Amino acid sequence: MNDTAQVVIVGGGVVGLALAAELASRTPDVFLIEARPRFGLGASTRNSGVLHAGIYYRPGSLKAFHCVRGRRMLYDFCASHGVPCRRTGKLIVGDSADDLAALEELKARGEENGVEGLEIVDREFIREREPEVVSPVALYSPGTGVIDAEALVRALARLASERGAHLLAGTPLLGVDFKDGLLYLSTPRETVAARAMINVAGLYADDVARMCGETRYTIHPCRGEYAEVIPSRSHLVRGPVYPLPLASGHGLGVHFTKTVAGTLLLGPNARYVEGKENYESDRSGLDQFYESARRIVPALRIDDLRHSYTGLRARLRPEHDHSFADFVLERDARCAAIIHAIGIESPGLTSSLSLAVQIVDMAGGSLA
Ligand SMILES: Cc1cc2nc3c(=O)[nH]c(=O)nc-3n(C[C@H](O)[C@H](O)[C@H](O)COP(=O)(O)OP(=O)(O)OC[C@H]3O[C@@H](n4cnc5c(N)ncnc54)[C@H](O)[C@@H]3O)c2cc1C
Repeated sequence: MNDTAQVVIVGGGVVGLALAAELASRTPDVFLIEARPRFGLGASTRNSGVLHAGIYYRPGSLKAFHCVRGRRMLYDFCASHGVPCRRTGKLIVGDSADDLAALEELKARGEENGVEGLEIVDREFIREREPEVVSPVALYSPGTGVIDAEALVRALARLASERGAHLLAGTPLLGVDFKDGLLYLSTPRETVAARAMINVAGLYADDVARMCGETRYTIHPCRGEYAEVIPSRSHLVRGPVYPLPLASGHGLGVHFTKTVAGTLLLGPNARYVEGKENYESDRSGLDQFYESARRIVPALRIDDLRHSYTGLRARLRPEHDHSFADFVLERDARCAAIIHAIGIESPGLTSSLSLAVQIVDMAGGSLA
């Protein structure tokens, strides 16, 4: 390592790795430090693996912008780097004709966000695509897809390394000092001097911000749990099928997703939990998934379900605050050489490449 790193990225999920790949193509001495023994073990591989179209998010928000741009970038990236992904299309289904107005509203919002090809579809269209789905009406999004998130993590890490970035797993950031125009980042191995730092630490982005003296943000971990349909019954649903999003604003509702590998998942639900490593305590019963899912697919039986993995959303709003929270991308108020990315929850996977481009643009001068 040179005496001084040009930039240190804190966090080796998809956003940090995409950033390392993007930065390393422009500047030498890019370092990424990741607390865990391997990259991508946080939310980046504990998600639905859906490339969202960009329908749900408030027009003009960073979530809407990066979801739409990031999805297009990811499809291209997957094609050129051999990452398995499929443009499956997706149905957002209503329970009855009474839901038509809500579906029309979603369609209008998606179109305002620049999502192409949205269509309100009828029973016949739904039956043709998904014979076991009984919904009478749906919004069809042809641009939605699924991706192998673990393969994306590996491809980004490989690309970042090939471009010369130094990726250090098992290296948690413990503290930050500023002195004489440089940052001093302490890790259990050594203290690294750096000209700039980018905080993309996911669930811990508020803690890393606090190490820099920024105390305005608190991440509230919100667990998303999945159930899996046994392989012999996974033919029941072919592609992503979602209900209308929850009125609480706390999630997209328990939905069906067929992973790139062919596993049929149900979930995630949304449960605020104590603790940022609390993935498994007090898991929800399978009956909760079943009750939501059988409204859409009555042929499903509770015996078809098994518990699957969970993930923790990096929420900026506590449980009873239903207001919209956008991604936060900002320079540190005390030190312009630090950028924080906080609250990168869904659609953060879809947005990862696009977020990386914006963060590099923001970093601009401090990295020259
Ligand atoms: C249940 C669930 C379902 C989701 N579904 C989707 C979906 O279908 N589509 C979609 O687009 N998005 C989805 N998301 C969101 C998406 O997974 C995240 O937005 C995205 O993975 C965020 O990536 P990241 O790199 O910011 O965070 P992470 O992957 O969490 O990476 C942050 C990294 O920082 C490291 N770190 C933390 N503290 C330190 C420290 N002090 N020093 C060094 N390293 C540190 C962590 O170990 C971690 O590896 C979902 C999320 C969840 C939880």
